[in-house]
Amino acid sequence: MTRSLKVRFTGVIAGLLVLALLTDRASPGFPLAKVGSAVGRVIHQTLRPERSRPARLVVPVVARASVFALADIPSEYLALYLQAAHTCPALSWQLLAGIGKVETNHGRTTAPGVHSGVNTFGCCAGPMQFNIRNGPPTTWDTYGDGTPTHVYQPQYAIPAAAHKLCTDGLANPTQITHDPCPTVTGTPAQHHAILAYNHACWYAHQVLTLASRYTTTPTPPPPDPFTQALAHNPNLQPTTTHGCNPQPDLANPQLDLRIQSLLTVMASHWTLRISCVHSGHSRHVNGTTRISNHTLWRAVDIDQINHQPISPTSPTTRALITWLDHLQGPLRPTEIGSPIPLGHRPYFTNQAHQHHIHIGYGPL
Ligand SMILES: [Zn+2]
Repeated sequence: MTRSLKVRFTGVIAGLLVLALLTDRASPGFPLAKVGSAVGRVIHQTLRPERSRPARLVVPVVARASVFALADIPSEYLALYLQAAHTCPALSWQLLAGIGKVETNHGRTTAPGVHSGVNTFGCCAGPMQFNIRNGPPTTWDTYGDGTPTHVYQPQYAIPAAAHKLCTDGLANPTQITHDPCPTVTGTPAQHHAILAYNHACWYAHQVLTLASRYTTTPTPPPPDPFTQALAHNPNLQPTTTHGCNPQPDLANPQLDLRIQSLLTVMASHWTLRISCVHSGHSRHVNGTTRISNHTLWRAVDIDQINHQPISPTSPTTRALITWLDHLQGPLRPTEIGSPIPLGHRPYFTNQAHQHHIHIGYGPL
């Protein structure tokens, strides 16, 4: 994007945010049907360069957008999340953006199915990963605008995602009283709507944690029940025998969301001894000057599975890394060091990984 176009988009966002504020003030009874034409006018006006406004001053105040949100979310997407969330009573733009982040990093991932075709599960497409192979009708048929190729375009996919979340519980949040994910922050209606999008409580945890990071939080957040449950999970057994101290790391909010989620899922299959997370690990990758993903809270080492040591000949070791190899989507690691060479990325093996499995992720 050119610099001048960036400035224009910034103006668009500022305009939308001002509109959002006005809409909030006008409620109840603000005619939603008028939002579309009003937004159109604001976009038209702000697309003129001389009308650009200082979004970095306006955005945090009006939309409660955090510094992280402004740095992480492309301005085109931020404007679309804001606009789409306004169509649903209990849907925040941050929740919608959390889904866009987990699904495709706001359309930036190069994974299959995001810009063309379908994902590696053979079902889903576009920045919001709508199912285009189920049905009939497909999920995209139900919530999209009826044009198959529009699933790849955020200006159609993001409003469709808002429509789906609204239908799945956020239109009438007080009617949903059963909480499918009691160890996740947020409301039963939010959990219900997010699980209808992707049926896993770790997914709801990732989406809602990201949503809270996209929001300005003047007071310290309360302890996260998901991380508390992780730190006390009986199938995750930290050990200090390798010079690390993983126990407090498991409860630390800095621990990468994907590590939190992956460990929770793995602990439902196996008992794992955790030999290193962050504390006590060397700053650099062994023998290099590269910063380790452990230093960045994005890696975990496991030295026993079901009380058996990791080894090149252990069937349990092979079972675990084969399981990891079949993971797709947001939990697929980008680094797996193990004693068993599978011969393809992201696996690697070397002398330092004969007695533990290293799992790491790139930047979120
Ligand atoms: Zn490691």
